[in-house]
Amino acid sequence: MQTKDINADIIVSGAGPAGLALSLLLARAGLDIVLVDAEKPIDVNAPVKPSGRTLALLEGSINVLKAAGIWEALRPSVTPLRNMRIVDDSIKSSDRIGVTFHARDIGLEQFGFNIPNAILRKTLYADVLKTDGITHLSATRLAGYDIDGGKVSARTEDGRVITASLIVGTDGRNSIVRKVAGIDARTHDYAQMAMTCLIRHSKPHDFTATEFHRSGGPFTFVPMADNHSSVVWVEKTDDAKALLAMKRDDYRQAIQDRSCGLLGTISMASDPESWPLMFLSSNALIGERAALAAEAAHVLSPIGAQGLNLSLRDVASLAETIVDAARLGEDIGSATVLARYETRRRADLLTRTNGIDRLNRVVANDLMFVKDMRRFGLKALAKVPPLKSFITHQGLAPAWDEGRLLAGQPL
Ligand SMILES: Cc1cc2nc3c(=O)[nH]c(=O)nc-3n(C[C@H](O)[C@H](O)[C@H](O)COP(=O)(O)OP(=O)(O)OC[C@H]3O[C@@H](n4cnc5c(N)ncnc54)[C@H](O)[C@@H]3O)c2cc1C
Repeated sequence: MQTKDINADIIVSGAGPAGLALSLLLARAGLDIVLVDAEKPIDVNAPVKPSGRTLALLEGSINVLKAAGIWEALRPSVTPLRNMRIVDDSIKSSDRIGVTFHARDIGLEQFGFNIPNAILRKTLYADVLKTDGITHLSATRLAGYDIDGGKVSARTEDGRVITASLIVGTDGRNSIVRKVAGIDARTHDYAQMAMTCLIRHSKPHDFTATEFHRSGGPFTFVPMADNHSSVVWVEKTDDAKALLAMKRDDYRQAIQDRSCGLLGTISMASDPESWPLMFLSSNALIGERAALAAEAAHVLSPIGAQGLNLSLRDVASLAETIVDAARLGEDIGSATVLARYETRRRADLLTRTNGIDRLNRVVANDLMFVKDMRRFGLKALAKVPPLKSFITHQGLAPAWDEGRLLAGQPL
């Protein structure tokens, strides 16, 4: 697209999974979208490199992907998550405690699916390219925006000017939209890194994701097809760097040692990759003619696999709020419309961001009394069926404001 100046209904800044899914939902409902992304275009025909960076997405998130129109294309690459096991592995192995949650106990076939991150992004991206109503500008950053005459006027680094009624920031932890909108965020550095890789194993995983709670951080196996699993391993930064510097077979052996024999003999199926972990929670989700969603508003530890699940709930709420307003002939960027989005998301975001932050600190804590509390909690879960059933339901999604998309209904 060579045009310098573009008019649209909505500017979406950032084409990670959240920005791509939101653009598809809005465009399919008839709105004109300009999606701006700093990354180079993805070659949708190139094969995806094996990687342990996968996303465990719960039932509601899958419904959002179905509404975005990409589920059939994703299906061959996903693995069902039928059971979730938590093991406290912080004391000596003879005292190990575990509790397993089964999807069948709450009448589901699976809690959700494990999806390779690169395949999710490529599949969303391929659909964005062929969807009418989305102008996709890649390899350029949104540089800033002004509010002028009841419109957003945004500039890209390569000199384009885009005018719209609303701008949405799905541009990640350093969101330019959050900055220009003047929305502050609470942040802290966990001084931890997440290491991921793909492994092959001799024993079946029985479609069970296992999260070991260890003092450096959680260590998790998430099932993939054909006796493969992805590993998400969180450690304090210095320890992670030392592990990543190991020879590949020593790294494999370290995984084998931490696996408690659950998966039999383990071999590496990809190189390890790593990400520094931080916490971010924005003080608001909306500004003048601006809304934030996904990691522009909240960044969590991967413990409990909540990050993109929470983000897709933002995406679903925002899409419903905007599309409903457009159908009623309202101004989609008005304060009244945006306030509905913020109100819908407040409780879920507050409980999940604070809950995951607390869980990450508790799991990584070496103090004996904290370990005892943690073990007491797990024992109670294992022994009190109503408590276990309550947690199983709550782990899936909030009980409030499910909305149409999360419930599998059309937009
Ligand atoms: C190891 C690990 C494991 C995880 N596992 C899970 C899991 O199992 N389940 C789960 O739900 N979540 C998981 N998560 C969280 C999940 O990966 C993230 O929440 C999700 O990928 C973030 O997507 P996003 O679209 O919000 O942001 P991003 O993917 O960060 O996308 C932001 C985009 O905005 C672009 N951008 C930035 N600035 C600008 C600008 N100025 N102009 C234009 N574009 C810009 C960036 O280039 C990028 O493309 C995990 C995270 C980690 C680290």
